[in-house]
Amino acid sequence: MIDCDVHNVVATIDALEPYLDEHWREVIATSQFSGPTDQPHPPNLATSLRDDLELVDGRPPGTTLASMRAHVLDPLNLEAAILSCDYGIESVHNPDAAAALAHAVNDWQIAEWLEPEPRLRAAIAVPSQQPALSAQEIDRVAGHPGFVAVYLPVRSAVPYGNRMWWPLLKAAAARDLVVELHFGGAPGLPPTASGWPTSWLEEYVGMASAFQSQLTSLVAEGTFDQFPGLRVALIESGFAWLPAFMWRFDKGWRGLRREVPWTRRPPSEYIREHVRLALQPVDGPAHPDALLAMLDQLGSDELLMFSTDYPHRHTDEGLAALPAGLPDGLATKLLAANARSHYRLDG
Ligand code: ZN
Repeated sequence: MIDCDVHNVVATIDALEPYLDEHWREVIATSQFSGPTDQPHPPNLATSLRDDLELVDGRPPGTTLASMRAHVLDPLNLEAAILSCDYGIESVHNPDAAAALAHAVNDWQIAEWLEPEPRLRAAIAVPSQQPALSAQEIDRVAGHPGFVAVYLPVRSAVPYGNRMWWPLLKAAAARDLVVELHFGGAPGLPPTASGWPTSWLEEYVGMASAFQSQLTSLVAEGTFDQFPGLRVALIESGFAWLPAFMWRFDKGWRGLRREVPWTRRPPSEYIREHVRLALQPVDGPAHPDALLAMLDQLGSDELLMFSTDYPHRHTDEGLAALPAGLPDGLATKLLAANARSHYRLDG
């Protein structure tokens, strides 16, 4: 099994201190600055932390390699797991501070996760609000074989297909890295397409619309023709919305494609070729027959990749939970083959 979404957690900025330069160590020691204050999963909510995980060495789940080995890598006997460090760097408005934090997170990932544990791979942390600085950080660390992706929060001030992001997309594609769009992001902007909601429930459910906006933008702006090697992973996106979204997108494209002549094929073709989605949170119908019909509507058995989203909790079942009634062929592809191919894990 390959797990395409496990979270290594920066417990406090102290964990990054050895990887920050003298200037930023001094800023932290002499000011109120203590790193990002925003995070995609608010602590203490039911979706934020599995309550069936024991502390390892007294440290919270995901904050140490020992806990990740004990909770996920060993019990699930994983072939590989891909780290998504959702440290909230996009919430830091000082570009130099954001770049320094991304730099430190990546060096921390190399030293404390990738080097000691060969089953781990990771997404590169970037100051995503600064595309040019993000491209520099990608170029700085992409030579390390442990990095297989670039982490971007799915909510952004401007959709990721826009030209302003192309330096970042170009750097990722040139380095053969998957662009990972992950649940969360864009502090300061309403977290739904229709403004400020009242509850976390609304934000959590509404996140699917942010993934749809980003897919629409990436396809409509022609990024997959501009960067033919560009591969995208939607992480914590759910997937049951995808068939209806592709029908609507294809229909709109047939009528309006003169607006986007660089988008030469139906959007669903680009999506099936370039985009993969993580399993958790499973948002399909509970009845196996209905689930099978929905999976059939995806039009490909290569789109879904197994994930636990450790240490977050989207189900009361165990970390390795799969939807009931998956056909054997699909399960085999979903558990490892789809991720192995998308992230180029076969060497
Ligand atoms: Zn996740």
